[in-house]
Amino acid sequence: MPTYTELDRPAQFLKNVGPKRADLLAKLGLLTARDVLYHVPHRYEDASTVTPISALEPGMDATIIGRVVSKGVLPTRRGLRIFQAVVRDGGGLIECSWPGQPFLDRQIARGDLLLLRGTCRFYHGRQFQPREYTTLAREGEESTEESGTIFPVYPATEGLTHRQVRTLIAENLDGLLRQARDDDRLPRDVRERAGVVPLAEALEAMHRPTTLADAERGRQRLAFEELFFLQLLHAQAHHRAAAERPGIAFPRRDTLVKPFHKSLPFALTGAQKRVLKEIGTDMASPRRMNRLLQGDVGSGKTVVSLFAMLRALENGYQAALMVPTEILAEQHSRTLIKLLGDLPVSVGLLTGRLKTKQWEEVTYRMAAGDVDIAVGTHALIQDGVAFHKLGLVVVDEQHRFGVKQRQAIQERGDNSDTLVMSATPIPRSLALTLYGDLDISVLDERPPGRQPIKTALRNESARPKVLKFVAEQVALGRQAYIVYPLVEESEKVDLKAATVEFEQLKEVFPELRLAIIHGQMPGEEKDRVMRSFSAGEIDILVSTTVIEVGIDVPNATVMVIEHAERFGLSQLHQLRGRVGRGSEESFCILLHSGGEAAQRLKIFASTEDGFAIAEADLRLRGAGDLFGARQSGLPAFRFADLEKDIQLLSAARGEARAIVDRDPELASHPELRDALESRYGDRARMFHVG
Ligand code: ADP
Ligand code: MG
Repeated sequence: MPTYTELDRPAQFLKNVGPKRADLLAKLGLLTARDVLYHVPHRYEDASTVTPISALEPGMDATIIGRVVSKGVLPTRRGLRIFQAVVRDGGGLIECSWPGQPFLDRQIARGDLLLLRGTCRFYHGRQFQPREYTTLAREGEESTEESGTIFPVYPATEGLTHRQVRTLIAENLDGLLRQARDDDRLPRDVRERAGVVPLAEALEAMHRPTTLADAERGRQRLAFEELFFLQLLHAQAHHRAAAERPGIAFPRRDTLVKPFHKSLPFALTGAQKRVLKEIGTDMASPRRMNRLLQGDVGSGKTVVSLFAMLRALENGYQAALMVPTEILAEQHSRTLIKLLGDLPVSVGLLTGRLKTKQWEEVTYRMAAGDVDIAVGTHALIQDGVAFHKLGLVVVDEQHRFGVKQRQAIQERGDNSDTLVMSATPIPRSLALTLYGDLDISVLDERPPGRQPIKTALRNESARPKVLKFVAEQVALGRQAYIVYPLVEESEKVDLKAATVEFEQLKEVFPELRLAIIHGQMPGEEKDRVMRSFSAGEIDILVSTTVIEVGIDVPNATVMVIEHAERFGLSQLHQLRGRVGRGSEESFCILLHSGGEAAQRLKIFASTEDGFAIAEADLRLRGAGDLFGARQSGLPAFRFADLEKDIQLLSAARGEARAIVDRDPELASHPELRDALESRYGDRARMFHVG
């Protein structure tokens, strides 16, 4: 149990907080003294370089501070209403003008002390046009920050202004900071190696910075702490996954791996070799492997996983490859059989589509050890399905499976090794955060000789031309996808739109074979449509974004994406990956309505590197949006920023793993156990899984 300290006292015991204030603080989620101490500014006003009003000259961009001496709304001849206020500082006064913002009349009062940022221009004399303003104090309120400082702006709530929050915190800060010295849970050596400041210093820097860099140093410390404790949790999960049940050592035997390697019609890429070495080391050791293999579609993951499976087979074990859909299972089983050539390896396919007799035969052979590699869907983890001696589990498109399903397949074996694969490239910082308990391998190199996909941005107005191009490709015997956005929030409307468009397209292409596929269709029907597209019986597949990752239709050469601006870059990347899988030149055409989005789409069009695209997506949209709200599972950080803090994150991971390696249960670190318990409580135990 964490110990109770001064900081755990209810906020009501703070100076100038009575029951009413306490209720308001509670609305901000601030219940204890500690909550108040950690209620840091969400932004800062930089008043360290304030220009005296008398020194303003037309053309200057400046920050000024002054009291409002008069104000009012001015109508103009063109019907535009302008809010104007005259502000004064010690040396002069100036008229400020906000065209089109008459509502400010209700927000700004005479006597207000304002900080204004904007430009000075010439209009019947000098006039200031603020871009932003902050109310530093009301009439009668004192303010010490008149100039020369950075001052904090706090999240506020109705009934409690940011100025009141600021005053309240300022009044209590010294006492709170004294108590914070005992609240520091970071071991000193860890903190020093990471180059971050002690807790109390960090909090002081955030509440009372002398420069913006100062505040940033404070944030970094708190960010490091957040990342460190999450990594500590991951490190423990990682350790337990490997230690609680011993694994199997698969030494190198080369009876299958070597002949397989020789039979490949291509040389492995550098990235494949590197990753195979990482996997080989894991497999040779008696510790259980828990590894994530990330790589773009086409980067050669399947081949890599087959090497690993053969390594298990050479040692007398079976391997399983679990994929999310029946079509993918069938596709993978065909691919493996083709790659294996004449090697003496038997592949069994297990999906819900099998007839009873086939099902019984396959499951019988699996249990008897007669199937070397079992490829299948969830069917593999159904009751009654057993292996003779399962040594390696490969899970493809791992994000499509829940943690439970991954565990279930692992449990089919005797402490089998696990390799999970993902074709959704994500930035390293996200990978470490989401999958910190796994070891991570990355295939960041494409096999040579693949044709680039031609990506083009087109305005909506070019739609007829684009459709004509689609028709030309179909005339050449190729197939096309036309994708419509469908987002959770407006699912119904979007689906309707896609359906309407589909009917119109049928009129545009009366002689072609069109079909639609969308998320609301029953799984079987989706499968049926996908199969006939795959078989070349459909020319144009209209779809919302449910096209399965990994679906391989080499004859499809055109991907048209409608309203491309509504997709994230990573989603676009997944969609583009549906074409360019055959020998013919392929095209991805993004239709958009212009405007700001075009800039973002240009980044996408300029590269096919999934990792670079994911980094850009993270930068532009933030981590939460990268996957869509539904599946992210990403912890919410208050201080850490996965885009900026990759170095802090790497340091945090290194430190956390080092501590857990020496002391897995943190026996000699009660303060860390304490911190984990109060940060994560029950969740700490949920993280148990690899
Ligand atoms: P992924 O599973 O990552 O999408 P695959 O393993 O299916 O990728 O590989 C995509 C295609 O590239 C397959 O046809 C595969 O045989 C081929 N391939 C894999 N590795 C190489 C390589 N090193 N050189 C050339 N072709 C390769
Ligand atoms: Mg694959």
